[in-house]
Amino acid sequence: MSSNERARLDSWKEIAEYLGRDVHTCLRWEKEKGLPVHTIPGGKRRTVYAYKHEIDEWLAKSLVSDEIAEKPAPALGWQVPLKNFWQRMPVVARAVLVFLILGFAGLGAYLVAESRSPALTTMLQEGNRLVAISPNSSVAWTYEFPSEKVKILNSIVLPSAGVKDEAGVLVTVSLGEGKGDALYFFSPRGQPLWQFQSVDRFIFGSSDYPLSWGFNLLGVIRLGNHSKVLLATRHYSWWPAQLLLLDLQGNIESRFFNAGWISQGYLMDGADGPVLVVSGVSNSFDGAFLALLNPGEISGTSPEAAGSPYSCKNCPAGRPRKYFVFPRSELNLVTGSPLYEAGGHPQGDIIPVIKWELPSDLGQAPPEAVYEFSRDFHLIRSRYGERYWEWHHKLEKEGKIKHSRDQCPERNGPPRIHQWDAQNGWQEIHPNQP
Ligand SMILES: [Zn+2]
Repeated sequence: MSSNERARLDSWKEIAEYLGRDVHTCLRWEKEKGLPVHTIPGGKRRTVYAYKHEIDEWLAKSLVSDEIAEKPAPALGWQVPLKNFWQRMPVVARAVLVFLILGFAGLGAYLVAESRSPALTTMLQEGNRLVAISPNSSVAWTYEFPSEKVKILNSIVLPSAGVKDEAGVLVTVSLGEGKGDALYFFSPRGQPLWQFQSVDRFIFGSSDYPLSWGFNLLGVIRLGNHSKVLLATRHYSWWPAQLLLLDLQGNIESRFFNAGWISQGYLMDGADGPVLVVSGVSNSFDGAFLALLNPGEISGTSPEAAGSPYSCKNCPAGRPRKYFVFPRSELNLVTGSPLYEAGGHPQGDIIPVIKWELPSDLGQAPPEAVYEFSRDFHLIRSRYGERYWEWHHKLEKEGKIKHSRDQCPERNGPPRIHQWDAQNGWQEIHPNQP
């Protein structure tokens, strides 16, 4: 292989492997976050390639770290023997070098990626040991976990250039064999300061869901002068999920429950001050959800119907500021496809929320529904992308849809969303009706 060939990735599959994510996520990153992917002109199917150095540059600059944090560490990054780690640096860098402080330090910024030099750059796993690497790529310290079955999920290095007693390393690990996931906080010198596990028992409807919580999103936000840890946890098998706001001593400050897994979160300046935007799926309403929370005090639950099996009986009172549900599209229903989460980040004055309607393993970008909100979260419009209509046409020809695009009840875009707020309760919003 020439060095040129090695520098290039020639399919979505290769790009996804390099990023350590699934194709679905990479497609979304291309759309929403400008992941640098090139298209070969001509041909019916879209053929793509990407350069590793461009992806590395993009990773260094882009604000995907909240999602990177949510991602289990890639096999390439974590399992590589230490002596090879330098060669693997771009891949490792993607997973763990990007440490992120989400904040709004009077900059009007929504996510502030701090690139100040930390005392540690990288966390690696070697057997049951956590290995901290310093900027000159030597081993700074190691920590031995008590079990052989430990798997490091992800880590965030809080820079020593920040608030002094907040410097350290947050690491989430799977303890293996039904022991659940744990969050560790280490001092910059590698002393374990505290460990956190979610051991709560919650009752939803008539069922209870004890002692089996995994972690799927780790982030840090800065509120005033203090950093707070955001940890999205989920039941291992079922739909209950919670978002925890912890202080840097490992104490829960507040928590938000959702009847469906939470997969994304970010902080932004809203019209009425800072707002924490979280999204994922709502199993109770069979759609994607997006919720607006008070970043300093997230206590509450997703708004469920009274008596619903999804309503929590022993969760804290309180509701989000707003809660949106995006129903499944015709294409999603006709094809019997899974439910996909909503996602997207602010782009100027518009907040696009994107939801895939078909699986991503089609070898091309899946059809999508796009909802555009103003910065104060009023729905401006919604539409389906062109690929949606290509698939609509294909399914017409197969006889699975019995009308043309012109006759489609959803020809102007997704016909409705459901919106909840304290003042009005649930409302149906119809963005595309005259
Ligand atoms: Zn239709």
